[in-house]
Amino acid sequence: MRIRASVRTSGRAQGRDRGAPPGHRRPAPLRTAAAVGAAFAAALALTAAAPAGAAPAPAADPAARPAQPVEYFTGPGGHPRHTTVPASAPLAPAARTSIAADGDVTPLVQNGPVADKLDVVFIGDGYTAGQQEDFHKAARAKWEKMTAVEPYASYTKLFNVWAVDAVSQDSGVSGDPTQDVVRNTALGSAFFCSNTERLLCVDTAKVEAYAAKAPAADLVVVLGHSSKYGGAGYNDVSSQVGYDGIATASSDNDQSDQIAVHETGHSLGKLADEYDYGQEGTYTGPEPTESNLTTLGADAMKSQQKKWYRWLGQESPDGGTVGAYEGGGYYEKGLNRPTDNSIMRTLGREFNLPGREAMIAGFHRHAKTLTADVPTGQPLARSGALRVTPLPGATPRWYVDGREARAARGATTVHPAALGVPADGRRHTVTVRATDPTDAVRDPSLRSLLTSELSWRVTG
Ligand SMILES: [Zn+2]
Repeated sequence: MRIRASVRTSGRAQGRDRGAPPGHRRPAPLRTAAAVGAAFAAALALTAAAPAGAAPAPAADPAARPAQPVEYFTGPGGHPRHTTVPASAPLAPAARTSIAADGDVTPLVQNGPVADKLDVVFIGDGYTAGQQEDFHKAARAKWEKMTAVEPYASYTKLFNVWAVDAVSQDSGVSGDPTQDVVRNTALGSAFFCSNTERLLCVDTAKVEAYAAKAPAADLVVVLGHSSKYGGAGYNDVSSQVGYDGIATASSDNDQSDQIAVHETGHSLGKLADEYDYGQEGTYTGPEPTESNLTTLGADAMKSQQKKWYRWLGQESPDGGTVGAYEGGGYYEKGLNRPTDNSIMRTLGREFNLPGREAMIAGFHRHAKTLTADVPTGQPLARSGALRVTPLPGATPRWYVDGREARAARGATTVHPAALGVPADGRRHTVTVRATDPTDAVRDPSLRSLLTSELSWRVTG
């Protein structure tokens, strides 16, 4: 489990300034990896959200509150767009207490310990007490559709999926089907947010409190109980729980899952948008930090060994070959994208090759290639057994005091004595290492994420 302490920047508008480098702004997070229990994480989330002088008191007038950038989607095959909405006000202690007492947390998919997996948390909004089973069904269906898209399809074993119940007074969400419809729901989901019909906003402070109920949240998807097409991406949230972004999507629209997949391109893949608005002029800023946008042409990328030069000329799953296609990062000119039309440009498409590489690297930032049934902090008996579960296709290699026990290569259950730990009464170290064998990640700095290593102390 990761706990992230974030510096709140709520005092100023976080809107994208025109002419600044593209990409999603977020406060620089201070990451602290800590092996702590779920109860502590929940307690931290509950206490750390208090204003504590860092954030100004919430203004009653939404227009006076800081702006929150969101991305929205005009239609299933359309280009996304960006706007800003008033940021959610911090929760009062009573509201946090009542959320902590609301609804259950149900594991929908369990592949291993939360510390070793990418934990996806679905939260339902607009479901009454009697409709929570409908929410679970919708969350399962949404996850199935999200993981039909590559590279999710090849990496489902890296994920745990949780459903966090939120009990709403009313069934359905506000703004469905028309703007005048107002419903009382646990998370305040509403279409027609900022007068944009397909923009499904949510109270992000309440999302944070609900997400804290799951054992670990690396990614949060809020399902608004509706069949109306719509959703939103919040990629600038600073979460005390530690997740990278919030996506909202309507529960019962069979194309809204693509919204969530696109949003994870930002949150997990750290990818930029590959679309433009056509009216932004020519980009003249510095080289973008995201891996899928560049000011360079194909020849310059190749000669300078920058960005996606390793993929140039390769056939891409979204169609065509990888090159330098002009337009992206909201600019029509001055920025190039890797392919003509990936999912980072248009919903319903595939990730391109550089996008897949970034997504797989993102998965591995949260999840390990290898998990074990004995925690690494726990000493092993020489006569004991140890079982590991590698990612499909990965080969475990075993080492005693740094020397490989070659006969055990590929074994998933081993005994330290059989590996060669001597019965000499001294302390020894058993190590197992495995690497995701994918060839879809070429950048050496990302390839290092594909290897997991676990070690135990054994007394001989
Ligand atoms: Zn986007």
